[in-house]
Amino acid sequence: RHSSETIPFIWSKTMIVISEELKKIKKDLKKELDKNRYQHTLGVMYTASCLAMRYSGDIQQAMLAGLLHDCAKCIPAERQIHLCEKNRIPMRDVELKNPHLLHAKLGALLAKSQYGIKDKTVLHAIEAHTTGMPNMGLLDKIIFVADYIEPHRDKAPDLAEVRKLAFDDINEAVLRILYDTIHYLDQRRGAVDPVTYDTYEFYRKLLNR
Ligand code: FE
Ligand code: FE
Repeated sequence: RHSSETIPFIWSKTMIVISEELKKIKKDLKKELDKNRYQHTLGVMYTASCLAMRYSGDIQQAMLAGLLHDCAKCIPAERQIHLCEKNRIPMRDVELKNPHLLHAKLGALLAKSQYGIKDKTVLHAIEAHTTGMPNMGLLDKIIFVADYIEPHRDKAPDLAEVRKLAFDDINEAVLRILYDTIHYLDQRRGAVDPVTYDTYEFYRKLLNR
């Protein structure tokens, strides 16, 4: 007979491997990111896992993508540009003028080369997280939304509403975030990536607005 405390929790072998992988990456990222970015990263990881539960997605994939989505964010702009050149990642005008946009593509590259991620779905979600992309897969949408609503975020307008929407209808949440990004957020910083507009148009039509 076991008391409730001694009943062993059964882990599958893959679960152990994946959680070890998460632990190792977490440790590495703590060194790569500044304190706020690291906190944000953990917020995205846990929020993504909740959204995966809600939409029957893969929880481990969501955590991995959430953890790594900003892995290139704290690299200085000139070095981001240099690394993109070195790895033949094509850069568009809008990215050269706003190098913060590069961290998504570069992040996907580093996730593969430095953190050993082979899962293309995870790499794609990292690549798509800043602008979104037309016709995103579930994991792409989960990371895109989690990035916007994670608990440490506080600057976006109507966050409470978007947070609720995220768990009601993820496509509606994606559309709302794109709308807010175009109308409130990036306007202040200057440039909205054309891909953000394309993504907005895609989801606007999809949802018949
Ligand atoms: Fe980011
Ligand atoms: Fe982020």
